Amino acid sequence: MSETPAIELPDGVYWVDQCYEMTERHHHISPYLVDAPEGYVLVETGAIEHQDVLRERIGEVVGDAGVAAAVFSHYDLPHVANARAFREGWDFDLYTSFSGTSASPEALGMGPSTGVMHDETREICGRTLSFPWPPLVDAAHSMWVYDHGSKTMFVADMGHYHWPGDCRVVCRSVDDLPSVDDIRAYNEDALPFVKYLDAEKMRGAFEELVDTYDVEVWAPVHGNPIVGASTIDAYLDRAVEAIAETAAASAP
Ligand SMILES: [Zn+2]
Ligand SMILES: [Zn+2]
Repeated sequence: MSETPAIELPDGVYWVDQCYEMTERHHHISPYLVDAPEGYVLVETGAIEHQDVLRERIGEVVGDAGVAAAVFSHYDLPHVANARAFREGWDFDLYTSFSGTSASPEALGMGPSTGVMHDETREICGRTLSFPWPPLVDAAHSMWVYDHGSKTMFVADMGHYHWPGDCRVVCRSVDDLPSVDDIRAYNEDALPFVKYLDAEKMRGAFEELVDTYDVEVWAPVHGNPIVGASTIDAYLDRAVEAIAETAAASAP
């Protein structure tokens, strides 16, 4: 076992946490694995700099069974750059939202894939997955992934920074959550359009999402996972506050 095995979340979901050190805070770019009845499903592939360590850590979870399927939220390199290399070792079925775009997986050298649509629900490896329209993303075709079995919402690109020492923290109570400033700082670097958003409309969009899907685990590619509906509600309140702060600071 490596020193940092993937972290088990409820109902057979694994967080393969990886992060970058920045000036002060760190930035996660982490894939997840779902232990589905008919094989392991990989959600995202992480950053290319982490390719070797991710292959090892994912391999520790899946063993000889390998990865049976993978789902990608969008085609930005930190999310999909390891797809071709991982597919050489694990001959998985690939599901993406961008199959019909100019950046189709085939055009990017990832091999054949199945296109999935927003609001669609599919059985993948015996697990029911839906693909909601995300309230906050950086590419029009981006989709989030909801796993009905574990009630996990896999979230890209909305996220937050963390501090050294918190790299492997799973937020299970309000005390563990990132601060409004950890969310604000991430937004301003990764999602510069956030200053144009109406915080109250975003509150409505988050409420609609958690009303539509019964979310028990919030699993961001760019952040620590959050477990429990009330802790997720508190996190989304902070996300709204972070958006409001950015909008207020940039107002003329
Ligand atoms: Zn991203
Ligand atoms: Zn870290």
